[in-house]
Amino acid sequence: MEIRIEHLNKEFPSRDKDGKPTKAVSDLDLVIKDGELMGLLGPSGCGKSTTLYMIAGLKDPTSGFIYFDEDDVTHLDPEKRGIGLVFQNYALYPHMTVYKNVEFPLTNLVIEEEQKAHDVEYEDVLQEVLLQQDTLIACLEKGAGKRGNDTAIEELIRAFRITPSLAKEIVSKIKKSEEGYANSLQLLLSLSKERKAKKLQDWKNKGFAVGDDYILLRDGQATTIHRRLTKDERDTLVRETAKLVQIEDYLGRKPSELSGGQQQRVAIARALVKRPRVLLLDEPFSNLDARLRIQTREEIRRVQQATKITTVFVTHDQEEAMSICDRICVMENGEERQIGKPQEIYRDPNCLFVAKFLGTPPINVFRGTIKDGFLLLGEEPVLETPKTLENQDVLVGIRPEGFLPLPKKKDLVFTVDVQDVLTQGRDTTLIFSSPLGEQTLGKAIIDSDIEIENGRHRFAIKPTKIYLFDKETGKRIPL
Ligand code: ATP
Repeated sequence: MEIRIEHLNKEFPSRDKDGKPTKAVSDLDLVIKDGELMGLLGPSGCGKSTTLYMIAGLKDPTSGFIYFDEDDVTHLDPEKRGIGLVFQNYALYPHMTVYKNVEFPLTNLVIEEEQKAHDVEYEDVLQEVLLQQDTLIACLEKGAGKRGNDTAIEELIRAFRITPSLAKEIVSKIKKSEEGYANSLQLLLSLSKERKAKKLQDWKNKGFAVGDDYILLRDGQATTIHRRLTKDERDTLVRETAKLVQIEDYLGRKPSELSGGQQQRVAIARALVKRPRVLLLDEPFSNLDARLRIQTREEIRRVQQATKITTVFVTHDQEEAMSICDRICVMENGEERQIGKPQEIYRDPNCLFVAKFLGTPPINVFRGTIKDGFLLLGEEPVLETPKTLENQDVLVGIRPEGFLPLPKKKDLVFTVDVQDVLTQGRDTTLIFSSPLGEQTLGKAIIDSDIEIENGRHRFAIKPTKIYLFDKETGKRIPL
C-alpha cells in the first residue's frame, strides 16, 4: 500500500507563556511506495518520530494530509489504520508468555467478513411458508390420495418458489390429524423458530455479530459481518508469525527469559500478527548491542522482503538506514533535505548537511577557494573547475576514500600532516591535521597494502569524491 504525505506540518505549542511554538515538521511531502522500506533519517529533534506518529495516527497534524492509497487517513483513529508499530522499548507484557504477547492484539480484533446466510434463511423461508396457512393447506390438500406427496411438493414449489428439499420437509412433517393440519403446522412453526434461534446462537458463539436486526438474505446473497477471530484462527496467525520472525521455539517462555534481540523479534511479531497494511518502526534497535543490532536489522529486512509490507523506519543511525532501506528521507529541523536510494544520496548529496550526515567516517570539510578555473585548498590547486564557476570562497567536502596516496607527477595534490595510522585488515585509516579544516582532524581511508608513516604526505583527490558547497547556504555547487 502506498503512503502519500502532502504538506504535512506539526507545531507544538510553547510551554513558556510568550514563547514560540516548536515546528516539529514543516511542509513535508513524501511518497512511500507500495512494499517499500523507507527510512526517516536525521539527528535528534529533526522531526522523524513526530512524522511517524502522525502516520500512525498517534499525533494529529497541525495541517496537511496523509493518504493510504486513496484513503485520506489524516485524522483517522490509529486502530482503524491497519498499522503495526514497533518502538525501541519493546513494551512486552512481562507476565504473559511470548505466545500470549503475540496473540494479544488479536484478542479484541474485530474483522469484517463476507458471510452467506443459507442456514438462517432456510428457517426464515420455512416460517414465511408456514405463516401463509391458507395457501399452504390448499397445496397439501391437492396432494391427497395416491402419489399425493409428489403432487403436494410440486404445488408448494410452484406456489412459494421454494427448494424441493424444503418442500419435501414440509410435506413429510405436516400430517393431517383429526382436527386438520393446525397442530402439526403449529408444531413445525415452533420447531423452526427454535432451530433458527439455536443457529443464531451458534453463530454468536462463533463470534459472529448477529442480532435481532440481522438482515436476512435470499439464497446465495452475502452480507458483511463483523466478528472476532476464533481461537483456532488466532492460533494459526500466532504460529505463522512466530515462524516468520523465528521465535517458534520460545512461545512458552516469558519475555524475561529471552535475550534483547529475541524480545525485539517478539515485538515485531506482535506488530505483524494482525497483518497490518503498514509497519512503523521507531528506532527499533537502539536497546540492542552492536552485534544484535546488525542481526536484528537483517532480520527486519528479511521479514519485510518476505511480506512486502510498506514499512517506515525511523533512525538517527545512518549506517543502519543505509544498510536496510530501499530509500531514505534525510530530515533536518522538521524539513526534508533529500530523498533517494542510500547509495544515490551518498554519491550525490545535494547539500552539506546530507553530505556530512551520511558516511563513516564522515566526509572531511575544508575551506577552499575557486580561482581562475582551479579549486584551491590553501595555496594548493587540487582540482580543475569549470570555467563557468565564478571566483568565490566555498566549502569543500572530500570523502575519506577520495584520498589517493602516491600521486603521479602530473597530478594535482593536497598535502596533509598524517598524525596517526590505524590499520584494520583491508583498509587503513589515516588521521591527519589540516589548518583548513572545519574540524582540526581529518580522516582518509586507503588500501592497507600501501604503507604510510606519520608525517607530511601528498595526496591526489578523486574528482568523484570531492564536492563543493555554498559557504552561506550549504547548497551543493555542481561541478
Ligand atoms: P529523537 O531522535 O531524539 O527522537 P526526532 O527526530 O524523532 O528526535 P521528534 O521527537 O519528532 O524528533 O521531535 C521534533 C521536535 O519536536 C523536537 O524539537 C522536539 O523537542 C519537539 N517535540 C516533540 N514532541 C513534543 C511535544 N509533545 N511537545 C513539545 N515539543 C515536542
